Amino acid sequence: MGCLSFGNVSNQVVAYRLFTSDQQPNAFGGLTVVIRPLSMLFGFFSRDLGIDLGTANTLVYVRGKGIVISEPSVVAIDTKTRRAFGVGVEAKAMVGKTPESIVAIRPLKDGVIADFDTVEMMLHYFIRKVHMQRLMAPHPRVVIGIPSGVTEVEKRAAKDAALSAGAREAYTIEEPMAAAIGAGLPINEPVGSMIVDIGGGTTEVAVISLGGIVINHSIRVAGDEIDDAIIQYARRDHNLVIGERTAENAKIAAGSAYPLEEEIRVTLRGRDLLTGLPKAVEVSSVELRDAISQPVNTIVELVKTSIEETPPELVADIMEQGITLAGGGALLLGIDRRLQTELKMPVYRAEDPLTCVARGTGRVAEALHLYGRALASGSELRRPG
Ligand code: ADP
Ligand code: MG
Repeated sequence: MGCLSFGNVSNQVVAYRLFTSDQQPNAFGGLTVVIRPLSMLFGFFSRDLGIDLGTANTLVYVRGKGIVISEPSVVAIDTKTRRAFGVGVEAKAMVGKTPESIVAIRPLKDGVIADFDTVEMMLHYFIRKVHMQRLMAPHPRVVIGIPSGVTEVEKRAAKDAALSAGAREAYTIEEPMAAAIGAGLPINEPVGSMIVDIGGGTTEVAVISLGGIVINHSIRVAGDEIDDAIIQYARRDHNLVIGERTAENAKIAAGSAYPLEEEIRVTLRGRDLLTGLPKAVEVSSVELRDAISQPVNTIVELVKTSIEETPPELVADIMEQGITLAGGGALLLGIDRRLQTELKMPVYRAEDPLTCVARGTGRVAEALHLYGRALASGSELRRPG
């Protein structure tokens, strides 16, 4: 379609909507002239969205309104019919309470889009949910934060899902880049910024300079693994079987990565491994810190390795600017002090770390022209390994 020479997906979609199938866009000659004003008009009234497709939580940011949706990245699916029974909060509440044929899926759990159909369902649900809040709201422009390292095919698939859910234009941005933008780091300047995003399923470390990702590492060790370490510890040291929620709550209440000024105690409730009866055990934050030391060490090592691989000029910048922590895992008590002590560099927790990526995608949706390189994704700039 030569007439779509400025041709990104968005304009093709708009063209699709403007012309019925028997009308050829060519008939209108200057398609650019036709599309641009309409596009601007749509843009003026529509609610551009930034979406953080996280492994644990999906957040939606709406221009002028802030974060309007923050729900677990969970879909409840009937395995027989492949129909979705619920998405987000509703789906998470169904976990463990559904008939056997209905399972709750976290389609992004490992930071890759392994189960694309489910991701598409989820995107549909969230975009529609925002969209429906205003009658006849025009199609929004959508920027989706996706885990770094997903393939071109997966990126394309995420954009397609957004378009089929009613987006006018869809873009993807790698999550560390979005997190850095959300944290207010000077990503477009010739200055090295390091962002460490500790989520549920993955920890991502990135060094960004001049709008591109210079170094990027991602591992599947993050909040979930820390919860798991608490489950293993309770079983091993206390003959206590606890669930994921209990472990996560204990982590949030008393988990830490560095000695606390005042150590605290927390009660773990579950089932006795031997008798099968309910049982409660009080544990200290010192014991919990030891219990989670393995995944925490792995995360610290990843940051160290990334620093070692960073070109010296950029390391000098990071020493001056500090390392910024984002993602829910950044809230783990003492993680900042631990990194600071081991790396001998200043480490800061971003403001509201759980919403950094969503706010970053929202910022990009509002000002696409400022983030051309960031949107192109850092893949071409990324060093191997
Ligand atoms: P994702 O981007 O992968 O969806 P998030 O950035 O939303 O992940 O972070 C979710 C993770 O953060 C979960 O593992 C959760 O347990 C953890 N988390 C949330 N709050 C805290 C806290 N106060 N302390 C420690 N971990 C936390
Ligand atoms: Mg995240």
